[in-house]
Amino acid sequence: MSEAVLSDPLLFIPGPSDVAPEVLAELGRQVVPHYGPAWAKEYRRVVDHAKTALQAEGHLFIYAGSGHLGLDAAIGSLFAPGEEVVAACNGFFGERLAELAHSHGIRVRRCEAPWGSPVAAEEIGRALDAHPEAKGVLVVHGETSTGVQNPVEAIAAEAKRRGRLVVVDAVSTAGVAPVSVTARGFDACVTASQKGLGAPPGVVLVTVSDEGWRAVEERKEPIRGWSANLAKWREHAFSDFQPYFITMPVNVVRALGKSLEMLLEEGLAERFARHREVSQLLRRSLREMGLSVIAPDACALPSVTAFRCPEGVAAPELRDALLGRGFYVSCGLGPWSNDVIRVGHMGVNATPERISRFIAALKRELHS
Ligand SMILES: *Cc1c(COP(=O)(O)O)cnc(C)c1O
Repeated sequence: MSEAVLSDPLLFIPGPSDVAPEVLAELGRQVVPHYGPAWAKEYRRVVDHAKTALQAEGHLFIYAGSGHLGLDAAIGSLFAPGEEVVAACNGFFGERLAELAHSHGIRVRRCEAPWGSPVAAEEIGRALDAHPEAKGVLVVHGETSTGVQNPVEAIAAEAKRRGRLVVVDAVSTAGVAPVSVTARGFDACVTASQKGLGAPPGVVLVTVSDEGWRAVEERKEPIRGWSANLAKWREHAFSDFQPYFITMPVNVVRALGKSLEMLLEEGLAERFARHREVSQLLRRSLREMGLSVIAPDACALPSVTAFRCPEGVAAPELRDALLGRGFYVSCGLGPWSNDVIRVGHMGVNATPERISRFIAALKRELHS
C-alpha cells in the first residue's frame, strides 16, 4: 500500500474518531498554565458545556486520562474492597467493568447475556434480588465490541427501586445518544473526549450524584489510591485557582471545549437524530449487500456498527484492504477478532455522504 493512501484514511474505527478542523486548531495554540483565575474560569465553562451535553446536574469532573481512569475512579470510590456489585456482562467492555471492579477487591456478581444481545433490565432486577448485599450495578451503555446498546434507563430504574447505586460507562454513547445522567438516576457516569464528543483523546469526564457522594462518605475504609480518588477530586473542585490537583492537558481541554460548543450549537436532539439516521443507513446498506449486522435494530448503537465478514473472508484482511481504500475500521474483539468488522461513525464522520463513500469502498472490495 502506498504512503499516499495510508497517510490520510478516515478514522472509521470505534474511536478515536476524526475531529473537526476547529477542534484540531485548539491543539496548536500556545500552552497556558493549568491554574490561575482565567484558566479556572475557562475550565469551568467546559465543565458546564459537558453537563449540558450529558444532561447532568450534579458534579462533573474533567480529568487527564482515558475512559478507564474514570471507571477506576468511579468504581474504586463508590465501592470498598469486600463490597459487592452486579455487573452487566454482554461484551468486551462489560467484561472490563467486572475485571476492573475485581481489581479493586470488590466482589462481582455477573449478570450475563450473549454477545450481540442487550442485558435485559428484568435480569438485572432478578440478580439484585438474588444478591441483596450488592450495593450497585455496573453497566455499559453502548457495548462497543458488538454495537449493542443496553437499556440503561430501565436497568437504572430496577436498581433505584431497590435502593442500589448505578455506575454507567457511557464512553461510546455520550454526544451521540441521550445519556440523561440526572433524569435516569445514574450515580456515576463516565465518558471520554475521543468518541462521540468529537475531541482528541486525553481527558475523561466523570459525573457523581448526591447518592454517589453519600456512598463515598459512608465508606468504612478510606478510598485507596491517590490520583483516581473521587473524594480528593471533590476537595479541589471548588477552587477558583486550580480546581484539581494534577496538571491538566490544557490544549485537550480547550479542544473539548470547542467540540462541545459545536455540539451544543448543532443541538442535542439534532445530533442524536443525525447519528441515528447514519447508523440506519449503514445497517440497511450492509444488509442489502447480504452482510449480517450483529445488533438488532431495536438496540443498535448510533456510533458503532459491527457486522460479520462474508464466508471465507478474514476480518484482518478486510480491514487492511479497506485501509488501502481510505477507511480505517477495526476487527472484532476477543472471540470475534477473525470474523467481525466494527465500524465507527461519529462526529464529523457521521454524514450520509461519508457513509455512502464507505459502502462504495466496501462493495468494490468484496465484489472485486
Ligand atoms: C472506548 C471505550 C472504552 C475505553 O476507553 P479508554 O478511553 O480507551 O480508556 C471504555 N468503554 C467503552 C464502552 C468504550 O467504547
